[in-house]
Amino acid sequence: MLPSPFQFERPSTIADAVRAVGDSGDGMFYAGGTELLLAMKMRVIRADRLIDIKGIPGLDCIAVNDMNEIEIGARCTHKKIAGDSVIREHVPALASLCAEVANIRVRNVGTIGGNLCFGEPHADPPTMLAALKARLVLEGSKGTREIHAEDFIRSEMETVREPDELLRVIVFPRPAGPVTYRRFKHGERPSVNVAMAWSLNAGGSTIRSARVRVGALGSRPQPLTAVEDALRNVAVAEARRAIETALPAALDQLEVNADRHGGADYKRHLAGVLLLRNADEAIIAGGSWLK
Ligand SMILES: Cc1cc2nc3c(=O)[nH]c(=O)nc-3n(C[C@H](O)[C@H](O)[C@H](O)COP(=O)(O)OP(=O)(O)OC[C@H]3O[C@@H](n4cnc5c(N)ncnc54)[C@H](O)[C@@H]3O)c2cc1C
Repeated sequence: MLPSPFQFERPSTIADAVRAVGDSGDGMFYAGGTELLLAMKMRVIRADRLIDIKGIPGLDCIAVNDMNEIEIGARCTHKKIAGDSVIREHVPALASLCAEVANIRVRNVGTIGGNLCFGEPHADPPTMLAALKARLVLEGSKGTREIHAEDFIRSEMETVREPDELLRVIVFPRPAGPVTYRRFKHGERPSVNVAMAWSLNAGGSTIRSARVRVGALGSRPQPLTAVEDALRNVAVAEARRAIETALPAALDQLEVNADRHGGADYKRHLAGVLLLRNADEAIIAGGSWLK
């Protein structure tokens, strides 16, 4: 099926893009179009105006800023992030994640911003970005605001973004310890995924704090708080045991949708397996942080 007719605009600044999209909801930003055009062709989404953001300079930069934070422009494609030297050096797990998202066609044009703004629950980057404590910077007619990646997705296919807010950049602190990620998928999108980020103490032998997020189970990534508590101030060598002890209760707390990817018990089980695989990788990777 063809989409219903729409106008197409190509602004060259963020301000013009925000003005062009308007706040009525009948205009939409267009990045790679990998989600949007499919949804429009299926007539699930109708837009009268598409505002192509590919001509706006600066939206596809990746850099470490003055605050020692990593910035990823929202229009960076999965392919670009996978091959970027800053990401490969500081967050190799994010580079690998992006290298395996979807298929080569989607990775070539699909953007991280489009992934986040679509709000599809079976997605990879939201889980990782929540574990990295990322903030999303939005530019709209009412000005700039920052939202924690964690709070961005409101429910399935729905975010807190206003229709005229453009996601400009994703920012997160440069990791101070190993970051790991594991996904399991039956088809093209993840059925369950787990991301873990440790902050190590100065010597590198003890975990100062840990962030653990499980994604694709509910509408948005969820923290495994009991595991995070169990890992605080624990020696890296003791981490697996600490996780195994806290895991059963932590998994019970997860909100899990049973769907075509599997039943709730099965997905909880997978989340536990993936977390322990993350732990094994983090323990090995932790060795390279030893001073
Ligand atoms: C076959 C297939 C397999 C896939 N498999 C995976 C997978 O395994 N894991 C995974 O995580 N994802 C997967 N995806 C999703 C994929 O990552 C997204 O399609 C892609 O990242 C979307 O980016 P885009 O630039 O094409 O977005 P678009 O389709 O252009 O836009 C998507 C939505 O975001 C809005 N938008 C885009 N950019 C911005 C912005 N900067 N600010 C505000 N709003 C914006 C648009 O208005 C639209 O509502 C898959 C998709 C397909 C089609």
